[in-house]
Amino acid sequence: MTVPLRVFGAPQRYLQGPGAIDAMGEYLARLGGSAALVADKTVMGLFGERIHNACAKAGVRCERVEFSGEIVPDEVERLTGLVRPMNVDFVIGCGGGKGIDAGKGVAHQLQRRVVTIPTAASTDAPTSKNYVLYDRSHRLLRVEHMPANPEVVVVDTQIIVTAPVPMFTAGIGDAIVKKFEVAQCMGAGGPNMFGARACAAAGALADLCYDTLRAHAQQALADVRAKRVSEAVERVVEATVLHSGLGFESGGLSVSHAMTRGLSAVRGARDALHGHQVAYALLVQLALEERPAGFIEDMRRFFRDVELPGSLRELGCQIRRSRRCARSRRAP
Ligand SMILES: [Zn+2]
Repeated sequence: MTVPLRVFGAPQRYLQGPGAIDAMGEYLARLGGSAALVADKTVMGLFGERIHNACAKAGVRCERVEFSGEIVPDEVERLTGLVRPMNVDFVIGCGGGKGIDAGKGVAHQLQRRVVTIPTAASTDAPTSKNYVLYDRSHRLLRVEHMPANPEVVVVDTQIIVTAPVPMFTAGIGDAIVKKFEVAQCMGAGGPNMFGARACAAAGALADLCYDTLRAHAQQALADVRAKRVSEAVERVVEATVLHSGLGFESGGLSVSHAMTRGLSAVRGARDALHGHQVAYALLVQLALEERPAGFIEDMRRFFRDVELPGSLRELGCQIRRSRRCARSRRAP
């Protein structure tokens, strides 16, 4: 009888704290002497020089490659064409989610290792081997898998607190769902992102992520509004980037993330941030799980406290009851 394999994956190193970018050089130098930095124009303008200098200090040559901002297959091809002749040892993906994924896409095409530097704690992407491609209409096209997780993840909390506040709440949304999705996936014996069974450690991380958010997210949100790095911010960023990323990848996903396939095709909802889409979808998942009304109401209260959408309308959809809908409501 074959014993189903349990697999747990993670980056080699995770660095978090104010000024992490300036301290990352020694970790990057272990990957080789040359890198390509992939970031969009804004991110490149804000942080390109600083990343370049941090690399140079550690003896790493850093070439800068500007990303258009749209993570579509053609753009990954274009970037790959620019980076290939540079013959670099590794790729650095920097940005709020798409910049990181663009870096992963290029590294994947060129079979190089990748370093991720999130400029916002808005998704679970930084620690993950997965990246997402969209079509030109912003519809989710497919999820690609790199053979390995990022080598180094650099989370500079001084930068994270300067990102737009909705990015921070989206990160909370993308993370709060993990406890419930991992529990569903593990309970049903579903595969994780490695196509294997989950280790109990993944479930423990998803639970820790939830507990951390419930205890500290509200304070952290207030601190982010004041652009202040605090202990609450550090704890919540660790939950939204590290616990959330490792939890879903090694634990598996369920209804909340599956619903992004549909929501990213619906007018209004499609423009919402990923973390806001999955947060709304969690309320659907909890209803499907037939959770007690009090439990769902408690979750809604938390959503209000941390500015997460509790309805399709709050997600950006214009809800109008069509005639057909009104007729079918009257039908027996
Ligand atoms: Zn997600």
